[in-house]
Formats: sequence, C-alpha cells, structure tokens
Amino acid sequence: MVLDNHLHLQKHGENVDAVRRFKKMGGTHINLTNTPDYTQKVDASYHRKIYDMTIEIAHAVRRAVGVGVIITLGPYPADLVNFVKNGGAVEDGKELMFRAVDLAVEYIEDGKANAIGEIGRPHFPVSYDIWEASNEVIIYAMRAAKNLGVPVILHTESATEQTWRDLAAMADKVGISKDMVIKHYSPPVVGAENYGIFPSIIASRKNVREALKQGTRFLLETDFMDEPSRPNAVLPIESVPRRARWIVQEYGVETWEKIMDNARRIYGGALDES
Ligand SMILES: [Zn+2]
Repeated sequence: MVLDNHLHLQKHGENVDAVRRFKKMGGTHINLTNTPDYTQKVDASYHRKIYDMTIEIAHAVRRAVGVGVIITLGPYPADLVNFVKNGGAVEDGKELMFRAVDLAVEYIEDGKANAIGEIGRPHFPVSYDIWEASNEVIIYAMRAAKNLGVPVILHTESATEQTWRDLAAMADKVGISKDMVIKHYSPPVVGAENYGIFPSIIASRKNVREALKQGTRFLLETDFMDEPSRPNAVLPIESVPRRARWIVQEYGVETWEKIMDNARRIYGGALDES
C-alpha cells in the first residue's frame, strides 16, 4: 500500500490525469479532501456543493484509475474568514461551520465519506473572535469524529510547541484518541514533542529523513492542490510513491510497512472499501 494522506483534486485541474501519474509511480491510495471555492458564496448551501463535487471527483478517480480514495470532508478554516469578510457576523459564521461539520457527519454515516477535515484555524493572523470561534469548531469536529470513530484532519498555523499543546489539550478535553487527531502539513515532529497528535508530514526527502530519525509514527502527504495557477504545489502528486521507493531502498520494506500500519490502524476498513 502507498497512501498519500492529504491532497486535493479540482474539476478545473488535472484531477483524474494527475492520479494516473500517481498510480504509475506506484501509488495505491489517496486521501482526498474538499477544496475551497470562493468563486461561490460561502452560505448555508456552500458546503453541500463543495462536498458533492469532491465525491464526484472521487468516483471518477476510482472508475477511471482504480486507485483507492479515502474521502475527507469538512469546513475549511478560511471559510469562516471569507464569511466574515463578506459582511457576516462571526457568531453566524461559527454556526455555519458547525452545520458544515454536521453535514460531513451525515455523509460519513451514509458511507459517502471517511474522515472530518480539513478543519482547524487559519494559518494567517485573524481577529481574536475568529480565532476563538475556530477553536470551538475544532472542539466540535473532534467530538463528532470521536462519536463516529473516524479521524479528524487538522489545518492550523505552522506547528509550534504551543500548537501541539493546544491541540492535545483539546483532544484530551473531548476524549478522542490522539491517533485520530491528524495534523496535516506537519513538520517532521514524530516524538513526544507533538504531544501525541498524529503527524501527516509533507513528503520531502529532508522531512522524511528527519522523521525517520525519531520513529515511524507518521504518514506522508503532498497537499497537492491540483491548481493550474500553481502547478505541482505543494508537492508534485508523484512524491509519496517516489518517497516510498526511496524509503524501501534506504531503510528497508519493513520501515515503509510500519508507516503504512499507521494508516491501517487509523482508517481500518475504509481502506478496503476505498
Ligand atoms: Zn490541504
């Protein structure tokens, strides 16, 4: 198994063709996350449209490429910022984010999706109100994920010690296993310094080398955005399979399998059904 734990595909991007390149390099599974689209208004109907689009692309990938697709759905942290920028009140925006988590829950219960995310707090400075509302959304989504027994994928500011500590405190408050609280776009912090939050690391060679010095409790991702104006950002879609080959060569196949065991533990049967 070769899983890219976090990427995006877009209707106006390469979508299916990009995944063909992923498969050719040896990729077997992707975790597909919805992508914000601010050409549309962030209102009460916004998230259903975004989620349905993601599911449609996932079906197309399965059909056309035969790669397993885990689907992660949730309100993106900047959705709240966008809502407020367009004149909405923070309080109303927070409710909208809660309802978007509820909708993700509904889709997961219906077997249409497998995880909640990427939810969290903006990676750029925002008002205190938006920051606090975003933290409430994190707690709300963690609670939902715990009840469903699925992972929650977090998008936050660049992780510092404070970030890890905040997230761990929230997870403890909710009582969700920290294995199921995944920090996407994580730096290679694999040991106790991440306070137990599960790292999904950007799959650069440097990161992987750093991560493997500390252990194998991590997953790899490209955060590929499939955005024609930013080709190959954040990393090219072939990066995880390429890195997997390199890990097998340099560290042995058991090391790679240990990394994939994390995915088997976290996603369980969803991987077989993907
Ligand atoms: Zn992302």
